[in-house]
Amino acid sequence: MRKVIYKFFLFYFLLFILECNSTCADTKESWQDLSGEHFIVYFTGEDGFAREILNKAEVYYQRIATDLGYPRYSEFWLWDKRVKIYLYPNRDSFLSSTGQPTWSHGMADYNKKIIASYAGSNEFLCSILPHEMAHLIFRDFVGFKGEIPLWLDEGVAQWEEEPKRKQIKHMAKQFLDRDGLLSLEDMMRLDIRNIRYKENIYIRPTRTKDGKEGILFLSADMLIDTYYLQSASLVGFLIERYGSDNFAHFCRQLRDGKTFKEALLSVYSTYIKSMAEFEERWIDYVDKGGQ
Ligand SMILES: [Zn+2]
Repeated sequence: MRKVIYKFFLFYFLLFILECNSTCADTKESWQDLSGEHFIVYFTGEDGFAREILNKAEVYYQRIATDLGYPRYSEFWLWDKRVKIYLYPNRDSFLSSTGQPTWSHGMADYNKKIIASYAGSNEFLCSILPHEMAHLIFRDFVGFKGEIPLWLDEGVAQWEEEPKRKQIKHMAKQFLDRDGLLSLEDMMRLDIRNIRYKENIYIRPTRTKDGKEGILFLSADMLIDTYYLQSASLVGFLIERYGSDNFAHFCRQLRDGKTFKEALLSVYSTYIKSMAEFEERWIDYVDKGGQ
């Protein structure tokens, strides 16, 4: 089971490193393009996969915007602001043109609003595309200036890979039952990018199911997996328990310069009066299997 868990989230850590550093390299491909309402897909050769990507991207766009409570604000990504999706003819040309590592199936450039992959990549169609789109939509909405914890950004992107939600809830409950979750305070301050030494054991604070403080001894892989799992679960909690409109309102407060704590306690004041109560209510949600 542990091995399965590792594979489930470790990929996103690797992807995350790329999300921060990627630029889509110029290429010698002769591109054709297909335009939709919010996307332009560039491709070479047959257009079958490009059409599939364009259709899915528009479906994902509507779902993500609705989940995050953004439809009423979502006049972005139209006309000249459309997101460009580049589909290289094959894996080799994608890797050589973008300079991505060999395990990569896709990448995103947030500044240029470009997403790239290669023709026929099922991993991209089902998983990376909604993940990267959620990052782009979220960042368009909250901007880059506010105090945005890393877990919130990654949590939104993972939550929007919708088929994985059931598994996220199931795994979070398993972690909670063996008192294996990081404390919320630790989630707020942990910069996962600093986890560079795979052979190290990391000592992190936990909050047990009974609300007591404790200590976890975690391998690097386990720490990364726990962090990503909790990120997705915390976002799912906010959206499922208190709705998309409140979540959008919360994001607007962050964009307008409130700290995370100020934004949280002002928007969710009816339910949450402190960071400790936020953690308690989230643990209750996890304990009930995400209900
Ligand atoms: Zn990500």
